[in-house]
Amino acid sequence: MANRVFNFNPGPSTIPLDVLKIVQDELLDYRGSGMSIIESSHRSPEYDEVNEQAIKLVREIFGLDDSYHVMFLTGGASQQFFQIPMNFLVGGKVGAYADTGSWSTKAIKEADIVGKAHVAFAGKEKGFVHIPTQDELDIPSGAAYLHITTNNTIKGTQYHYLPETNGLPLIADMSSDIASHRMDYKKFDMFYAGAQKNLGAAGTTLVVMSDALLQKSNDSLPSLLNYKTQAGKKSLYNTPPSFAIYVVKLVLEWIKNQGGLKAVEKTNVAKKDCIYQLMDLHPDYYRGTVEKESRSWMNLTMRLPSEELEKKFIAEAKAAGFVGLKGHRSVGGVRVSLYNAMPLEGAEKLAEFMETFKKNN
Ligand SMILES: *Cc1c(COP(=O)(O)O)cnc(C)c1O
Repeated sequence: MANRVFNFNPGPSTIPLDVLKIVQDELLDYRGSGMSIIESSHRSPEYDEVNEQAIKLVREIFGLDDSYHVMFLTGGASQQFFQIPMNFLVGGKVGAYADTGSWSTKAIKEADIVGKAHVAFAGKEKGFVHIPTQDELDIPSGAAYLHITTNNTIKGTQYHYLPETNGLPLIADMSSDIASHRMDYKKFDMFYAGAQKNLGAAGTTLVVMSDALLQKSNDSLPSLLNYKTQAGKKSLYNTPPSFAIYVVKLVLEWIKNQGGLKAVEKTNVAKKDCIYQLMDLHPDYYRGTVEKESRSWMNLTMRLPSEELEKKFIAEAKAAGFVGLKGHRSVGGVRVSLYNAMPLEGAEKLAEFMETFKKNN
């Protein structure tokens, strides 16, 4: 494995090596079936077991009971931006949205096409460097839901508490921090995540929904847009992206086998501490771009003293085997994405590289 790099890409992103090896092992002959899982019918016993296992593991890892539906959908997290309002903004209801970055801004835009969005927090005024406190959230009592983005992949901020909604459904886009730390997932009526950051390969979106919320979905929509269709058929209403779901299943097993979210969180804390401690040691050189209390554990954003140095940093890092560190064009600088599959060694080695780079430059 000498030629594998430390892959800090923001998404699609690194996948656990152990998972890739299983994919490789099973690719030509899936468990004695004489064919690949990609070649199997989605109605075959082999695929059925993958699907059932994936659903079971989601409930187990997130501590949810059978009253939560687990779906594997397509269209990316971006499809959820319009599917949610199509289902729940009926009868003139408004959806409340905390706007904490580019992805929530997109979700708001889609909600306004389908129905009406109420901006419960406008993060843009401060340049999206801050996660709202409970007091800063303005949630109308008649809203259909509050939608938050738990981790803002581009700006590098993350919620470190769960907002209180006074009984309204809490919905979260968790695309870039799902399963990265422990929290009370039962507080959500719905959460969703594109698989390509913390859950595996691109091509499917995990959608988890309480039965109470599902019952409110809009029955007058085309079948594939109504959540009840896929919830009732365990995501087998039509042909699912079976390969992507199979990889998600393997990633969930990888999480479970290392001790679940507790173990994952421990490693993630060590990883982010490695980088943030170094940044805090040299705050004028590795300049964090967001408020400290709002810092993301998954996407760590920073600027260097000049754009020239940033370019040099990214190029030299790449030559040293650290790829995918360029910040999003709307922020610039450097972004270190420390998703679950990035080993602690990757963060430690990068911190050493950063220290050396600063000395030399
Ligand atoms: C990447 C990302 C998305 C977009 O996901 P797609 O699957 O490409 O639609 C949405 N929200 C967040 C928070 C993301 O990080």
